Amino acid sequence: MTETTVQAQPKPVPSTARDPRPGVSGVEPAALAAILEGMGEPAFRSRQVADSVWRSEAAGWDDVTTLGRPLRARLAERLRFDALTATEVRVADDGATEKALHQLSDGRLVESVLMHYPARGARRERNTLCISSQAGCAVGCPFCATGELGFERDLDVAEIVDQVRHARRRLAAGGRHLTNLVFMGMGEPLLNLDAVVEAAVIITDAERFGLGARHLTISTSGVVPGIERLTAMRPQWTLAVSLHAARDALRDLLVPLNRRWPVRAVVAAAAGYAAATGRRVSYEYVMIDGLNDTPADADALARLLAGSGSHVNCIPMNAVAHTPWQASAPDRIEAFANRLQAAGIGVTVRRNRGQEVGAACGQLAAERSGEPAAAAVTRRHERLVAASARALAGERSGEPAPGDVAMAPPSGQVGPGPVVRPATQRPATQRPITPRSGSPRMAGHPDRRSGTGRRPPGAPSRGSR
Ligand code: SAH
Ligand code: SF4
Repeated sequence: MTETTVQAQPKPVPSTARDPRPGVSGVEPAALAAILEGMGEPAFRSRQVADSVWRSEAAGWDDVTTLGRPLRARLAERLRFDALTATEVRVADDGATEKALHQLSDGRLVESVLMHYPARGARRERNTLCISSQAGCAVGCPFCATGELGFERDLDVAEIVDQVRHARRRLAAGGRHLTNLVFMGMGEPLLNLDAVVEAAVIITDAERFGLGARHLTISTSGVVPGIERLTAMRPQWTLAVSLHAARDALRDLLVPLNRRWPVRAVVAAAAGYAAATGRRVSYEYVMIDGLNDTPADADALARLLAGSGSHVNCIPMNAVAHTPWQASAPDRIEAFANRLQAAGIGVTVRRNRGQEVGAACGQLAAERSGEPAAAAVTRRHERLVAASARALAGERSGEPAPGDVAMAPPSGQVGPGPVVRPATQRPATQRPITPRSGSPRMAGHPDRRSGTGRRPPGAPSRGSR
């Protein structure tokens, strides 16, 4: 992707206290009415304020000219019109992709990515926004820039919704409107489920943002209790599951939550969601050269998803985190996809911007956090090469699932294990993930592959294609 325009660049700022004023987009209509009534305003003001939030292109209280200046000032004391304090937009792909880096009131940074797909044949134009649910992420998938950052904090409802309002304003300026929304930015949505659900309800409420429920997708790395909670709500939202490996030993490495909720439990929970909602689940599969892209991997994936009616998106890994890995070559991805298809699994290969949806998120924020020391990167590479070899030999990870223990490295370093925050720094809203008792090292697990003789990806002597 070639970047062509940079606007309004916020400088990284040290973390400050959060603005205590709620963002107006996250305030329920009844609560907004009560606030206005408490301010001595007539009942019709709530409608005016709601219209300014949901139906106008206003970017701040000052733009809301339907309200008098004194009322705007009093409202600004109570409520933030925009929960994002600054936004830098980078335009790429000849204007078809916009990456936005948003600053929160405490100086933290999150990203959203807006992608424009022109109409083609019978297919209408689409404008898809990818949004963040957390600043950083505790799950620590090693190929992911957000995972490498580690967890910072949950976003609140307005901080999630306002990424969408921002995009809507930018789209409206070009005569476009948002057609699809995906929670595939920074963070694990199901580890901030209350806020994500509230935001999704607001965004799909006809009286507020008004996006069709079926046009909203929530992506998870496999938080089984979160999938079950969603299932019980029976929404019409689409569930996407980041699988990346069909076998536990490899998935323990690529998606560390697998050590807590193994792949079969994740797929079973997703099948429960599909059965309860009638919505087809899609699986994301990041393709990493020599690690998870072999015919045996395709066969294991086909067996895992057989009869589920679900769809797999194969996404070439974007080399944004510090790993010894590379994206699978296009012919290898093609072969993988063909093998899945031959086994009756629906599959799409994402080649260009699709691959940036996930990969782009976290990249800008990671850039701002600075390059880790070279020695730390070398240690991380060595650790991942060794862990890849163990995973390919079928050895389950003996490391705890993220969220279990304090393993966060000193700042500026790339740590030896999954990057998670110390338990003492967990915000009250974050549900801790408790360890599976014993979590045994399962060298003799049925998933174990014998005699593969595969070299660890990233090892220097590769190339036997
Ligand atoms: N935490 C959630 C949602 C955000 S990540 C999840 O993991 O599903 C959104 C998607 O981007 C996931 O499928 C993730 O695996 C993918 N992704 C992350 N880093 C990537 C990279 N370097 N290359 C390609 N896809 C990546
Ligand atoms: Fe978190 Fe998703 Fe990145 Fe994994 S891929 S670290 S779950 S944001």
